[in-house]
Amino acid sequence: MEYRVLGKTGLKVSVVGVGGLGFATRGKLCTPDRNGLPEIVRIINRALDLGVNIFDTAYVYGGGIPEEGLGMVMKTRRKEAVILSRTHVYQVSDKPEETAASLETSLRRLQTDTVDIYQLHDVSSPESFRKVIDCGIYDVLKKAKKEGKVRFIGFSTHGGYEVAKMMIETGDVDVLTVSYNILHRKRSAGDRENLRETSEKLFPLAKKHDIGITVMKPLGGSSLMSPDEKGKSLSALKLIRYVVQNPYVHAVTPGIDNMKQLEEDVKAGDPAYGLTGQDIREFEEEAGKWGSEFCRQCGYCRPCPREINIPAVLKNLMEWRRTRKESVIESYKKLEARASSCIACKVCEERCPYHLPISGMMSEASEAFENV
Ligand code: SF4
Ligand code: SF4
Repeated sequence: MEYRVLGKTGLKVSVVGVGGLGFATRGKLCTPDRNGLPEIVRIINRALDLGVNIFDTAYVYGGGIPEEGLGMVMKTRRKEAVILSRTHVYQVSDKPEETAASLETSLRRLQTDTVDIYQLHDVSSPESFRKVIDCGIYDVLKKAKKEGKVRFIGFSTHGGYEVAKMMIETGDVDVLTVSYNILHRKRSAGDRENLRETSEKLFPLAKKHDIGITVMKPLGGSSLMSPDEKGKSLSALKLIRYVVQNPYVHAVTPGIDNMKQLEEDVKAGDPAYGLTGQDIREFEEEAGKWGSEFCRQCGYCRPCPREINIPAVLKNLMEWRRTRKESVIESYKKLEARASSCIACKVCEERCPYHLPISGMMSEASEAFENV
């Protein structure tokens, strides 16, 4: 495992960490009966054994169960770990006293007197940034740092360069957590970050100010792991390694929810799995083609003002491209709104997290299915 110094914090962190959101989202480890806790504990212990030392979690993830699991391990292995946790400003509160209370809850769950890094999560627009400053929430973190309840503070953001620059210019941010991945792909259409700006402008500015950078969504919020129509998917190991090889990144914390995935992801921290310049070019090319017109049927693009069932039309189109079967035309004809009614408003394209050229695909579908 390779280790890097997390900017001005001076903390030495493993380049690959564990993202606690994985316990909550993909697996069944965060259920109200808490039956998943022993497995979370087992994964965290194994991660430490493999040299992972940074653990990213949050007050609201999985109803606090990832924090609890981490706390159960910290009872005996606190010195081996760097804990990064955070509170979600608007999901939790915009009142300073409630932010302070959520930190106390996190400390209790984590079974520690001090969190290494504590952030305000998802501060993703200049307006919300100003609000957390004006309403005194950020002061709660600064006070907690003075009191020793947290060692370092910062933000996580889906907001891109503009808001990150405002954070950095406060002069007291130690660590920022941002999204970054090979395709500069967002987790969802609602995210505001421009990931290209993240790598080209935000990272260099953070370095200038010696801010620690941890990365979330190296797998595009799992979107880059969706199999294509042939069932093939990109390699998680290579995707994480790609992020690790960015010298501005100090640690990447992919969400993990099972032991097999942990063992695989951790390899990305081993220089033996390093990508050469040629590997990177080839992987960028492979990833660039990845799903550029592959509809994942997620439905984020809806609704369409012409009431076109976009995922259904695209499903038929993908099937048609592959098979040219008459049955696909029959299936298309059962849909109520026709692709030809598309007015190319492109509202759907703004919403699609995979940037599919939907209006062009509607023309193709109309040509294929309606002129026969
Ligand atoms: S571009 Fe076409 S398919 Fe997309 S929302 Fe507009 S009308 Fe609907
Ligand atoms: S077009 Fe995009 S947003 Fe719509 S279902 Fe397909 S992948 Fe999802």
